[in-house]
Amino acid sequence: MTMRTIGRFAPSPTGPLHFGSLIAALGSWLSARAAGGHWYLRIDDLDPDRSIAAMTNTIQVQLEAFGLTWDGPVLYQSGRTEAYVAALEQLEAAGRLYRCTCTRREIGAGARYGPLGAIYPGTCRNGPTHPERDAALRLRLSAGRHEVADRIQGAWSIDADRIGDVIVRRRNGVTGYHLATTVDDAFLGVTDVVRGSDLLPAAVIQNELQRGLGLHAPAWAHLPVMMTADGTDKLSKQTGAPPVNPAHDPVTPLIQAWTFLGQEPPFETPATPAEFLAWALSRWDEGAIPPGERLVAAGPGGGLRREGA
Ligand code: GLU
Ligand code: ZN
Repeated sequence: MTMRTIGRFAPSPTGPLHFGSLIAALGSWLSARAAGGHWYLRIDDLDPDRSIAAMTNTIQVQLEAFGLTWDGPVLYQSGRTEAYVAALEQLEAAGRLYRCTCTRREIGAGARYGPLGAIYPGTCRNGPTHPERDAALRLRLSAGRHEVADRIQGAWSIDADRIGDVIVRRRNGVTGYHLATTVDDAFLGVTDVVRGSDLLPAAVIQNELQRGLGLHAPAWAHLPVMMTADGTDKLSKQTGAPPVNPAHDPVTPLIQAWTFLGQEPPFETPATPAEFLAWALSRWDEGAIPPGERLVAAGPGGGLRREGA
């Protein structure tokens, strides 16, 4: 039996698409469509403090202008609470979670940093240190070496103590990113997760959650990420990436994203996104994608640094 390829793009509605997010959108779209598969749009609007309602529409208008059409209805994480609660109960019953009452400030003081940011030192592993406070829920990450088999980045591994126990439900009740994305990728039947390589270490946690919840693991393909001009950070909304404006000229940024992904540019500039994408689909070569910079540690500012930087 051959499984139909299902891909997805999962932007957080914190701002309009920028060139970095266009790379992830185009790469995942091509990967799914070139395999004759489906491609879904999921809006990661879990965090009410960071999500901007109007951006949900802006992002869809931008994707449509780029010709990056999706299948079926858009999945909004803000409407998925029941599924997250059920998954948390399952993990809780299996003894995989614990209550943590540490504040961000308590953790931040003297914290070590790994590729996903401050490493939680496990203070509450044997019971919350401040039982009178509201608690967050953390996932007990299995000790030892974790390996991710990635189609673009190759075999990559990291020790659990460079990641630590992540939050799966915040103290204010908001579901954590890793839990939500794991539950939703499974719900959508995603077979191939194609996204930026800054999220490669996240695959360690998501694989652990998949095992804990009895879910299939998707194939991983982490794309190179665009760096800021000084080469120290991932280009993102936080590091001031300008939005892409398809209303003005959708084809040029598409071709720039295509060549960033290691693909040969067209001899003649196609007139429309649809023309470009039809051409691109027949030439898409995932094997030509360069792995890009290795991002190793996120500092207190949240930025990712290059290996050696
Ligand atoms: N919503 C996440 C972001 O914008 C991406 C989630 C994912 O692709 O797993 O960075
Ligand atoms: Zn704690």
